[in-house]
Amino acid sequence: MDIKKQILDALQNPDFPDLKFLYSPEVLAVSEEILWELLVEEQEDFQKKLKIPDEDISFETFEDFSILDYFFWLLEHYQWVNNDEVIRKIIENFEPKYIDFSNEVAYSKRYYEMLKYCFQNGSLDAEQKRIMEKSVEVYEIRGIALAEAEQAKLKKINKDLSELGQNFWNNVLDSQKEFEYMISNEDIISEMPDDDKLVAKKKAEEKKREWYLFDASQSAYAAIMKYCSDKSIRAYFYTARNLFATEEWRNNKTVILKILELKNEKAKLLGFPNYAELSLHFKMAETPDQIIDLFGEISEKARPKAQAELNEIREYFNLQELVVSDLSYYARKLREEKYALDDKELKKYFEFEKVLEWMFEIVKRLYGIEIKKIQPHPNPLLKEREQTSEPLSPWGERIQEWGFVWEGSIFDDIQVYEVSRNGKFLSYFFTDFFYRPFKRQWAWANILRENFRGNKKIVLNVCNFQKWADGTTLLTLWDVETMFHEFGHATHEMLSRSEHSELSGFHVEWDFVELPSQLLENWCRDPEGMKIFASHYQTWEPVPEDILQKLEQLDTFGSGQFVIKQNEYAMMDMSLHTGIIPSSESELDTHVQKNYLKNSLFPLSEVYNPHTSFSHIFDGGYAAGYYSYMWAEIIEKEVWRAFKDSGDIFSPEVSKKFHDTILSQGTTKKASELFRDFFNRDVEIDAFLSEKGLI
Ligand SMILES: [Zn+2]
Repeated sequence: MDIKKQILDALQNPDFPDLKFLYSPEVLAVSEEILWELLVEEQEDFQKKLKIPDEDISFETFEDFSILDYFFWLLEHYQWVNNDEVIRKIIENFEPKYIDFSNEVAYSKRYYEMLKYCFQNGSLDAEQKRIMEKSVEVYEIRGIALAEAEQAKLKKINKDLSELGQNFWNNVLDSQKEFEYMISNEDIISEMPDDDKLVAKKKAEEKKREWYLFDASQSAYAAIMKYCSDKSIRAYFYTARNLFATEEWRNNKTVILKILELKNEKAKLLGFPNYAELSLHFKMAETPDQIIDLFGEISEKARPKAQAELNEIREYFNLQELVVSDLSYYARKLREEKYALDDKELKKYFEFEKVLEWMFEIVKRLYGIEIKKIQPHPNPLLKEREQTSEPLSPWGERIQEWGFVWEGSIFDDIQVYEVSRNGKFLSYFFTDFFYRPFKRQWAWANILRENFRGNKKIVLNVCNFQKWADGTTLLTLWDVETMFHEFGHATHEMLSRSEHSELSGFHVEWDFVELPSQLLENWCRDPEGMKIFASHYQTWEPVPEDILQKLEQLDTFGSGQFVIKQNEYAMMDMSLHTGIIPSSESELDTHVQKNYLKNSLFPLSEVYNPHTSFSHIFDGGYAAGYYSYMWAEIIEKEVWRAFKDSGDIFSPEVSKKFHDTILSQGTTKKASELFRDFFNRDVEIDAFLSEKGLI
């Protein structure tokens, strides 16, 4: 059979796709060609669509399942889980034209008018109306409705902002690249874990040097700040970090001033009083003031605990003074010495298979989800090979053919499940949980294919847990939390009741999307839950009482400092995007320093420039959005508190209410409305405060 036809058939298969086949050398050899063909088809279809007369426009005009998007996304997924030259080249060649096409769609005035026409005149049900309303809004926020001259201005601003963001990031990188610090005295890093030392040693070896080299990476910085016993070295690293990208020839302060000015101009062009208001337009939080007030209240409440945490450190270690660059070191030491919890012991209660079973059991109890392991489809190519008596393992061939160094298939650890509720199929769940070289070393949840007219949805979780040679995997508590977190995201998508993928769980507001994920983590940490499910991987004994007690004590360890720091950053971000834009470097510095003095518990250091390497907000899409980290926790603790207050963390009433009003609703309503449907009120902070031990 023609290979191209076989690929298109595989992509159109509404059931679980033959992922092995779609990753075979035969397929990759023609993938780029297929992408180009699909792109031409979609471009032609789009042009045809633009010619549809108004009276013929209906909701269906805009409904499509793009095989191109699906295939491209699949290739990107393979690239994420197994970085390899072949796919990288395909993506690199194809992506620029693909982006050009999506820009053509995104800035098509006719298309926008068609959407608007449909929104205003079409006979739409409630969900269709919401989808159209959102689509029109997205176009308007891009500035599609503006006059030509203003639109040109906006496009120029967007282009400049993207360049400035790039400059910002390059300045940080260049500045950090030059930084290195050699340590030859073993004594001062004797408390450091072997892993960190090994990395530092390798870095030194790469430069043909002896001893240990610590660079400006986050991991090296954290290793020094937490484990280096020499106070002056910690202070040196702290100062160095505050000097990145402040040098005259790569000064991010000038970049920040331009970014702030352009963002402000952009907001005004689009009819918003400032950039923060624009940023909040598609978020749950409604106004900058709402966030400023809420965070102000929380940090006031957190101050006594934060201060007590500092006092505890001072007293325990008998310190005259505690400077900001010493905090991580002593906090870590206190945790280890005063609340000694042996992570190696704890791991024995978290054997991977048991944790997975526990996690599935929890969502079954909470939301009635049934999860069944399935065997994905057989590989048609494998069958052909069997018949022609070619080697049975195409992966052996592939390893030679494509220059793979790693022996084994990326499919070895993959599991596929069928997820259903009340006998109704919800989604496939696809897992890839274990570490491999060439796989992105993160954890994530995503959707591999959306449901559309019979196409079954595929939701995935990817992690990087370490499997040992004998096949057992003992997880740290952090791993278990990660697993629950990503599965929480997955359930949000799986349980979305709408047939329209635009309204599913993954599309909710940015500051609401972490609610189901962070919420599910509570069940793995809760002592009550742990007592039921966690047991020793060899003896089946439950977790001992003393470990549970320590875990409970540590639950709020350092939470005062955490809140103070989060508030300081969030307020720096928010204030720079709301008030009067600083017009000079000194004004900018004063602004940032004032924010620190207002919000921090430490005196101002001689060198203080957190803004010059704050890429989250100047190059990362978090401008006037840094608050979302703590915001998500505030709402998540509210829901968790509702479960706890019912006296049963598996309360059928609360879980049903959460399922019905929030989880299954996906994006069918605004997040603030969903929240109100559950609580009959706006966000409050009491649950967060008490869960964090702040009241
Ligand atoms: Zn998350």
